[in-house]
Amino acid sequence: MLTAIGDVMRRAYDKGWITTRDGNISLRRKDSDTLYITPSGWRKTIIHPEHVVRLKMGDDGELTIPDGVTPSGELEMHRLLQIENSATRAVVHLHPTHIVAAMFAGWDLQRLAISFPEVSRYTRVGPSVPVLPATSKDLAEGTYNAMTDLMGNRIYDIVGQAAHGVCAVAKDPWAAYEHIERLDHICEIVLKSGVRPDNFAKPV
Ligand SMILES: [Zn+2]
Repeated sequence: MLTAIGDVMRRAYDKGWITTRDGNISLRRKDSDTLYITPSGWRKTIIHPEHVVRLKMGDDGELTIPDGVTPSGELEMHRLLQIENSATRAVVHLHPTHIVAAMFAGWDLQRLAISFPEVSRYTRVGPSVPVLPATSKDLAEGTYNAMTDLMGNRIYDIVGQAAHGVCAVAKDPWAAYEHIERLDHICEIVLKSGVRPDNFAKPV
């Protein structure tokens, strides 16, 4: 599954969803205290298992970061979404072009998703996170809060992050990638249709 981290990054780069050093992925296996996460600043097109950073997560959810190790700048977003550990989980953060463009154009991703069965059957789209600085605690907490209910149970598979990207969660990196791909596809369709958010009528 560590190999999939690099494979997903290369696919995302080929799709134009990240520039060379963007994006990050974490992975935590069920009942494991190891959090795997992509390194900061590394060229994501050449990520292989030996480049993936390994961090120990304590029972309190805090991470130990050894000297000289530089995990992704979005570590806090991954940490919050990886604390709950009843199942193996991948968290994928990318900048998919059409999703970011649709948000920029004023589309509500949740409203859009319920209009397209190819998304709504398989992918639960949460409320988008407002514009917040990349790598900030606010972005980490805003993303976590958008993904979960008040009890901390995750209720969505993907949320948009305005003027930035998305965060998707699934059982492995490719499954998270599929949530992103489905949503990006309908965003591309809607943008190409020329329909504007303010005169959008939900299909019946
Ligand atoms: Zn980002």
